Formats: sequence, C-alpha cells, structure tokens
Amino acid sequence: MHAATPILSYHAHVYYDPVDTRAAADALRQRIGDRFSVQLGRWHDLPVGPHTASMYQVAFAAEVFASFVPWLMLNRAGLTVLVHPNTLAPRDDHLVHALWLGPPLALKEDVLPLRIDAKDESTIVPNTAPHLAPWS
Ligand code: ZN
Repeated sequence: MHAATPILSYHAHVYYDPVDTRAAADALRQRIGDRFSVQLGRWHDLPVGPHTASMYQVAFAAEVFASFVPWLMLNRAGLTVLVHPNTLAPRDDHLVHALWLGPPLALKEDVLPLRIDAKDESTIVPNTAPHLAPWS
C-alpha cells in the first residue's frame, strides 16, 4: 500500500499581457473549460499575491493533472503558465516544487507563507462544463 500523496490539488496560473495577449488567454480559457473539469478563477489584470504579471488561476484535482497538463504543454498559445502543487507549504509549492511552461516570471517570495493549515486550503469546485474530448 502506498502512502497518500501530500499533493492536495494543483493550480495552473496563466499569465498574459492585458493589451497584447488577453485575447489569446481568453481563447485558451474557453478551450480549457470546454475540455476539463476544473475551477476557472477570476481575471486579475492587476497582479495579486506572489504574481508579478496579469493572470488567471485554474485550480484542479490531482486526478486531472495527467490529462490537463500535457494538453496545456501543447496548447498554451505562447503564454507562460506556472503549474504548482498545493501541499500546505505555499512558499515551496511556488518556488521549489513548481514547473513552468514557457519563460519563468518573477514571484514575490515574501508574501508566500511557509505553511498554512488544511482548513485554509481552498476546496476545488469545478465550474466548467466539459463537452469536448481533450484532444479534439
Ligand atoms: Zn496558485
């Protein structure tokens, strides 16, 4: 029997430029929602939290990773995406355990807590209605 993974969920943060690449980010967002059971977060034209560029968040369960992340690798439309696990250690999750699709961006380390309680970890409630196969 395997020990439970400490990864509770994942985030993909899709970065864009409000002028130059917002349309591409919007098209990607639509394509994601058509294909994957994920929770699409709000648009943040102004950087929030540790992020230093405009972005929206895609939250997804661990079991979605194997279909979603490979798809995102090939379909990110030139946008930079940060994929990080959620293990209750936000600083390491973003700075040590993350993977980047496209050129990495700077993150504000000092606003990332070292540890959070499980009760502070947000529950993923998918808000998409997938109706296409991933590779369609
Ligand atoms: Zn995140």
